[in-house]
Amino acid sequence: IWDELKESYRHELAPASYDAWVDTAKPLAFNNNQLTIEVTSDLHKKYWEKKLAAKIVEIGFKITGEEISPFFVTPEETVSAPAPVIEKNSLPTGTITRKAMLNPKYTFDTFVIGKGNQMAHAAALVVAEEPGSIYNPLFFYGGVGLGKTHLMHAIGHQMLTINPDAKVKYVSSETFANDFINAIKNKRSEEFRQEYRKVDLLLVDDIQFFAEKEATQEEFFHTFENLYNDNKQIVLTSDRLPNEIPKLQERLVSRFAWGLSVDITPPDLETRTAILRKKAQAENLEIPDDTLSYIAGQIDSNIRELEGALVRVQAFATMNNADITTSIAADALKSLKGTTMTQLSIAQIQEEVAKYYHIHVKDLKGKKRVKSIVVPRQIAMYLSREMTDSSLPKIGAEFGGKDHTTVIHAHEKIDQLIKNDSSMQQEVSEIRNFLLN
Ligand code: ADP
Ligand code: MG
Repeated sequence: IWDELKESYRHELAPASYDAWVDTAKPLAFNNNQLTIEVTSDLHKKYWEKKLAAKIVEIGFKITGEEISPFFVTPEETVSAPAPVIEKNSLPTGTITRKAMLNPKYTFDTFVIGKGNQMAHAAALVVAEEPGSIYNPLFFYGGVGLGKTHLMHAIGHQMLTINPDAKVKYVSSETFANDFINAIKNKRSEEFRQEYRKVDLLLVDDIQFFAEKEATQEEFFHTFENLYNDNKQIVLTSDRLPNEIPKLQERLVSRFAWGLSVDITPPDLETRTAILRKKAQAENLEIPDDTLSYIAGQIDSNIRELEGALVRVQAFATMNNADITTSIAADALKSLKGTTMTQLSIAQIQEEVAKYYHIHVKDLKGKKRVKSIVVPRQIAMYLSREMTDSSLPKIGAEFGGKDHTTVIHAHEKIDQLIKNDSSMQQEVSEIRNFLLN
C-alpha cells in the first residue's frame, strides 16, 4: 500500500514537495487497518494530517476495500510513547448528524419562473409531491447562479410541508466527500451510512466536484443504490451533464441518466426584472419598474450578481439619502463598473478630454497658455490623478514632460473650481462618465 501511495503522491506533488514530505516519511506499522507513519518533525506531521492524509484513506480504500486510518508519529514519539488512539482528528459532533440544512429563503414561493427554468421548476414540483416515483434521480445542470441550489432546497421545503416527518438531507458534494473521509478516519462508517441511507430525500449539490474522487464515488454509488432501491428520491445538480464530468465512474453516469436531467439556462430580461421585483418586495423596497428593468438590463446572466447589483443600488441610495431611481441606479452601478474595469490609462483620459473640448491631444501635452487649453489640460491632469494609479512624475511626463508640481497645482486648481463652480462640476462629471462607459 505504501508503494502505491508514494506513486500517487509522486504524480500529484511537485518534485520538491514530494522529496520534502513524502520521501522523508516511512511506514512503521499496519494493524487493524491503522497505518502508522513516521514523519520527520511536528511540522511534517501537521502537513501530513492536513494535506496528505485524505489520500491515504482514499487509496487505502481502493486497494483494500477497507477503511484505513492514517496515524503519524515523529521519531521522538516513537521512542517515548505508545500510539494514542486517533480521536484527535475527530470532528465536532454534529458533522454527521447535521440537519436538513435548507436555506429558508429558497422556496418555491420565492422562485420566479421564466423560460430558462420552467422545465426545471415543473420537474421540481413533481418530485416534491411524488418523491421517489417519477423522476428519480432528478438532475439539474447549468451555469453558476441560475437557481439550481434554490430549486433543490425548494423541493426539500415542499416535501417537509407536505410531510413534516420526512427525512430530508441537503449536502454539497464536498460535504459528502468530507463526511465520508472523516467517518472512515473516525471509524464511524456505520453512522455515516445511517445518516445518508436512511433519508426520504437526498439532495446533493454540485456533483462536478466528485470528479477524480474515487473512494467518494464508490461510496456515493452505494448510497445511491440503497436509496434508489428503497424508492427514495435523489436530486442532484452540476454545472454540466454527468458524462462531461471528468473521471466520473461510468456506472454513476448511467445511473444519473435513469431519471430526468433538465438544464437551467440564463433568464431573459423579463424574468430578470421579475426576479428583482420579487426581491424588492421581499425587502420592502420601493423601486419604479423602469429602474428595475434598467438594473436587470445591466446584468444579464448570473442571478446572484443581479441580486448583488440590487443590494448595491440600495446601499448607494441609502448613503446618498435618495430614493431609488434609474439615475441613482446608474450611478451606483457605474462605480461598480469603475472598480472592476481594467485600469484607465492617462492616454484614454487625454483623448476623452480633448474630444470633449474639441481640442487636440497634442495641445494637452503642449505649452500653450490660452485659457481654452489650459483648463482642459488641468482637468485632464486632475482626472489622471483621480482615476489612475499613476504617480505624479509619471502624469507630468505624459503631459509633455511637465514637472510634478505642475500636476499638483492643476489638481488643486480643478478641485477648487469643482467646489465653487457648478458648471465646472458638471463638465468634469460628464467626462468622468464618458470614461466609465
Ligand atoms: P446555482 O446553484 O445555480 O449556482 P443559486 O440557486 O445559488 O444558483 O441561485 C443564486 C441566487 O439567485 C440565489 O440567491 C437564488 O435565490 C437566486 N435565484 C436564482 N434563480 C432564481 C429565480 N428563478 N427566482 C428567484 N431567485 C432566484
Ligand atoms: Mg448552487
